[in-house]
Amino acid sequence: MLTVIEAINLTTDFFTKKQIESPRLNAELILSSVLGLKRLDLYLQFERPLNESEKTKYRELIKRRSEGEPIQYLMGFTEFYGEKFLVNSDVLIPRPETELLVEKIISENFTLEEIKILDIGTGSGNIPIMIKKNIPNAEITSIDISEKAIEIARKNEEIILKSNKINFLNLDIFDEEKLKSLEKFDIIVSNPPYVSEEEYPNLQIEIVNYEPKNAITDGKDGIEFYRQIEKNCMKLLNEKGKIYLEIGKDQENSILNLFDDDFFYKEKVKDYSDIYRILKLVRK
Ligand code: GLN
Repeated sequence: MLTVIEAINLTTDFFTKKQIESPRLNAELILSSVLGLKRLDLYLQFERPLNESEKTKYRELIKRRSEGEPIQYLMGFTEFYGEKFLVNSDVLIPRPETELLVEKIISENFTLEEIKILDIGTGSGNIPIMIKKNIPNAEITSIDISEKAIEIARKNEEIILKSNKINFLNLDIFDEEKLKSLEKFDIIVSNPPYVSEEEYPNLQIEIVNYEPKNAITDGKDGIEFYRQIEKNCMKLLNEKGKIYLEIGKDQENSILNLFDDDFFYKEKVKDYSDIYRILKLVRK
């Protein structure tokens, strides 16, 4: 017989040996998902035995986690800006840093205006969905090269906002013919793949082996997407249009240089590790 508390303790030791971060939390999250309980409710049922099918499911997930599969993919969701987002290996797992990007836009008090926003690289839909939730007037178009990502983003909008007002489009930002079909926007927002091809293999195995490569790296020097945004932004943005970007470590100067001619640099925001992570630019 294996009880809840025994399962948690055994797995915590196992994950510790396998150098999984936060071993006990991982064990508890996996067990709570197998048993269909909230994590804290496990504490009320420490002596509850696991039946055979629960044990089988639990072992399978423990094995996958110990091999490096991210806990968010195993659970099927992650939390972003206080909401639960469905995620699978077709989309990047939303990161806490990206909450700063959303926060920045929400804090700008656009609420009274009719405002048109273009989000480049939807992924799970985290950025447009949280903007729409907080700025209901916003008219948002959100594009992604991956049809599968768009499917997840649409589901997330349905679950979180109970609506389908965001215009999700399967469109590649590098496809300039198709970009012509887009109207003009007041705001462009993006958290593009900004890891260089060179740095990519050095990332954690959780990322390299499991997250979609094209959501992490541009396959070049890490600033290819910013170049592409710069190249097209005069066509895509209205007068006084603004751009909000998430960027990688130490990229701020090269990216600001790209936009130098047509944009004023307005603000840069640091993340929790003291790295410049968000840039705000305003059209001259
Ligand atoms: N917009 C999504 C996010 O910020 C996906 C970004 C990406 O795939 N690079 O999480």
